[in-house]
Amino acid sequence: MRWSNYYLMTAREAPRDAEVISHQLMARSGLIRRLAAGIYTMQPAGWRTMRKLMAIVRREMERAGAVELSMPAIQPAEIWEESERWYKYGVELLRMEDRHGRRFCFGPTHEEVVTDLVRRDVKSYRQLPINLFQIQTKFRDEIRPRFGLMRGREFIMKDAYSFDANEEGLDRSYRAMHAAYSRIFEACGLEFSVVEADQGTIGGSSSHEFMVLADTGESAVASCAACGYGANVERAEVGELATPAQAGDEAAREVETPGTTTVAQVAELLDVEPARVVKTLIYDTDEGLAAVAIRGDREVNETKLLNVLGGLGLRLATAEQVEAATGGPLGFSGPVGLPAGLRLVVDESARQVAGFVCGANRGDRHFASVSWDRDVASARPIEWVDVMTAEASDPCPRCSAGELRLSRGIEVGHIFKLGTAYSEKMNCTFTDEHGRLHPAEMGCYGLGIGRTAAAAIEQGHDRDGIVWPAPLAPFAVVLSSLDPGDEAVRSAADSLYEKLVDTLSTGGFDVLYDDRAERPGVKFKDADLVGFPVRVVVGARSLKGGGAEVSARGDGEREVVALDQVSDVVLGLLG
Ligand code: ATP
Ligand code: MG
Repeated sequence: MRWSNYYLMTAREAPRDAEVISHQLMARSGLIRRLAAGIYTMQPAGWRTMRKLMAIVRREMERAGAVELSMPAIQPAEIWEESERWYKYGVELLRMEDRHGRRFCFGPTHEEVVTDLVRRDVKSYRQLPINLFQIQTKFRDEIRPRFGLMRGREFIMKDAYSFDANEEGLDRSYRAMHAAYSRIFEACGLEFSVVEADQGTIGGSSSHEFMVLADTGESAVASCAACGYGANVERAEVGELATPAQAGDEAAREVETPGTTTVAQVAELLDVEPARVVKTLIYDTDEGLAAVAIRGDREVNETKLLNVLGGLGLRLATAEQVEAATGGPLGFSGPVGLPAGLRLVVDESARQVAGFVCGANRGDRHFASVSWDRDVASARPIEWVDVMTAEASDPCPRCSAGELRLSRGIEVGHIFKLGTAYSEKMNCTFTDEHGRLHPAEMGCYGLGIGRTAAAAIEQGHDRDGIVWPAPLAPFAVVLSSLDPGDEAVRSAADSLYEKLVDTLSTGGFDVLYDDRAERPGVKFKDADLVGFPVRVVVGARSLKGGGAEVSARGDGEREVVALDQVSDVVLGLLG
């Protein structure tokens, strides 16, 4: 491709809404252009990157036995009513009506469509397993579209769906997808880790996220270097915490604690460690109010809490709600004497604390020397749960040796065992060898194409621009002709270009020939900005020096190479 013919316009400035480096560099490199919030055109060079990524994804999906199809983007409401997600998906689902007043949505995902397809075709266990995938445009009306392609509203996803006859089959399909995803991100040249993910409200038995590690990632990941445990902080478990110094066996007593509404204030006033204070938060959920108690030095993890309490959402109760539920003001809630009808869930971390301090459900009063068994459990039920947020240096939940480390990652892929959640609701059944009907065991497997490209840039860039891993660069090689007006240079560069196209294309590598009538400085800057992995420069000076100058993006080493050796050296650099 000749740059003079190509559609690649770089810019000095990034758009004002570009907060993260990948968004800034994608915009400045002319890879994407915003049309509306969270909606982008993939310009030709950006689309080349996407196509390369999609080719890797297709290859590995097919290698793992998944079969490509293409499902409609616009989906009728009826199938979403069958799965009940028409009511549950909320405002992220873009709904619309046609001229007859029939209701549709623009698919944010395709469980309903694929389940409808398979239930019509599959009757017998002999037709299973099946794994179908597509690479297709989704729409999710995200609250905060941002970071360019990383969190768009319209975006391209590879989504796959497996159907098996039983759980062992689902397990095999799931493991095949797990392995395929690992091969995909390896083939892309990305540094990633696989972590246990929160299953959310869909249920199901297993879920993993593939994270590209980068400081700007929206997800926090907890991992243990000693044993390899890794989990999204939304669900990460924690090993047993050291218990704070134990108090004696004294009876609980009420103490005056004027104006102390925080754990730190109470701990200081009563001269105890914050870990010996139990804090109690009142939450408002779809299922009513609930009291949640946790060790005073720790934070509640609201994702875990939502899984415990059920329903679709939760928020901290208002001061009025707290007063009505506990009889005391906000800031002084505690587990002692709560009405038996108010649900009380207590984090395991608080269980070990004997003789603790807690709010007395009265203004400016706390209880000290409280015991769970004697003062709380004797009067009402307690649900012991894990709703604690993991923190750096917490003990690993899996091995005795390690500590948790927190890092940030970009979720690029998500695989999920759905079980029979959809097949039961939508009646996607098959008969087994005895003629009995069963719902299919399903799995779903998503991978964001645009987000993966953006993540590659978050991981690979420097001051001058993008540093692509070679498999994802829009072009593997840029050939820059520095003096296109000079006849000798032009003919040397033209024939080198032809030769490079011939020799590199067999290895799947492509060349952009910068034959524009631009100054050398502009060409060098643009080449660094767009981040082509290998640069070949031909000019009057390089020809005098014996050929072309070859360098790899990133390392700055330049080598003068005879013209007939250039393709070998380039191939060597591309590995
Ligand atoms: P997130 O928690 O980031 O919103 P999700 O859990 O909603 O992601 P899935 O429904 O599992 O995502 O979608 C599968 C994949 O699709 C994700 O791993 C991600 O790569 C991609 N993806 C999801 N939402 C977006 C988006 N708004 N923009 C770009 N890619 C997305
Ligand atoms: Mg989402």
